[in-house]
Amino acid sequence: MNQRVLAERARRAIPGGVNSGQRNVPGLSDLVIAHAEGARFRDADGKEYLDFHAAFGPPLLGHNDPDVNAAVAEAGNGADLCGVGVTEGEVELAETLAELVPSVERVLLTSTGSEATFHALRVARAATGRRLVVKFQGCYHGWHDSVSLNVISSAEKVGGRDPISTGILPEVLEATLVLPFNSSQAVRQAFADHGADIAAVIVEPVPHNVGCLLPEQEFLRTLREECTKAGSVLVFDEVITGFRHHLGGWQAISGVTPDLTTMGKAIANGYPVGALGGRADLMDLFSSRPGGPAFFAGTYNGHPAVVAAALATLRKLRAEPVHAHVFALGERIRSGLTEVFDSLGIPALVTGYGSVFVGYFMTGPARTYDDLLRNDANMFIGYRRRLLDHGIFELPLNLKRSHVSYAHTDADVDRLLEAAAVAARQAGGEVQDLAAASTMGGAVR
Ligand code: PMP
Repeated sequence: MNQRVLAERARRAIPGGVNSGQRNVPGLSDLVIAHAEGARFRDADGKEYLDFHAAFGPPLLGHNDPDVNAAVAEAGNGADLCGVGVTEGEVELAETLAELVPSVERVLLTSTGSEATFHALRVARAATGRRLVVKFQGCYHGWHDSVSLNVISSAEKVGGRDPISTGILPEVLEATLVLPFNSSQAVRQAFADHGADIAAVIVEPVPHNVGCLLPEQEFLRTLREECTKAGSVLVFDEVITGFRHHLGGWQAISGVTPDLTTMGKAIANGYPVGALGGRADLMDLFSSRPGGPAFFAGTYNGHPAVVAAALATLRKLRAEPVHAHVFALGERIRSGLTEVFDSLGIPALVTGYGSVFVGYFMTGPARTYDDLLRNDANMFIGYRRRLLDHGIFELPLNLKRSHVSYAHTDADVDRLLEAAAVAARQAGGEVQDLAAASTMGGAVR
């Protein structure tokens, strides 16, 4: 059935026509996905895209990886979800995560990253008996209330109230402090002012939800020191960085070990698995009994099919040169795009890490969220819209990062760089036209 008809049916049956907030992209409201394989997906009208969006990051091996899918199919012949006891796969996965991720002594499985961050904060409050949660500008940790102060809170709203949703109790928002990323000084001040009331500090060690802000070592070390001094729980939200950047997550790269770690996305190449792991004394507060010190539950947790997907993904990440491949392609893209924009005289900062890349249309550093306010959003979105004309998919929403997978090739990178030159020139022209029209008082919408 044709895309437009399907999309119209979707809008009648599904609020907004999609099943997650950020899938509703201006200009792409009729997009219906029909097929995905490796580094590509195809829409229901047969148009193929080279995919650098990668579903916000899970398919590190590429879409529909045959080894992962085979493991899932095989799981269909074994234990089904029985809602009692544990399976061998769950034991193996927990042991593997404890082996790989420095902070993990014990681990619980969830279905999503949001559930993992929810439970991290719940157990931090249970352990400390304290109220406050500290988070950072530019970081997203899921949809639940305790982390709902907006990912893009601007400087004047630091510590202010800028929730991602209505319907959240003011008491919950008031229990959340938002600080600028990479500011050790702000962290020290928050602990000086509120230390005895801070249950947890939660941070994306690399805030990839606004593209890429690389953490300064001193900042991560300050988080560790202040949490240890005050008896607060340090949570690294490694839902994006975990497995993608290193099998042990950013904590293995930085050498800074949090108390708790949340995981998701690349852990199972796109199958719905999240995990919360960490210090045994904290994790052991989760009781299987209702009313236990901290309650944890979920009908689908540890489903044999998704556990098989995670085990197959981690096996492949360990056995094959996945990281070497995606890091090399990521580096080629970052240096190639820098050359393209430089040669066109377009001010740009191309950054990222390993398999993640993002080109901001601005000059100067990207240390904090406020630095990203210099990014030219019209150019950022316009460039990506023009890339779509070339069959290249980078999400046309401001500040979104892009990803390469094990399924991308050098030829795919060549294609991106060729298209980038044309798309950037076109978008640059359109942005100038827009600016000229607005200074002439033209009607600009
Ligand atoms: N933490 C981070 C860092 C994320 O990027 C996300 C999702 N984008 C989440 C948590 C929430 O994960 P999920 O969407 O699986 O609930």
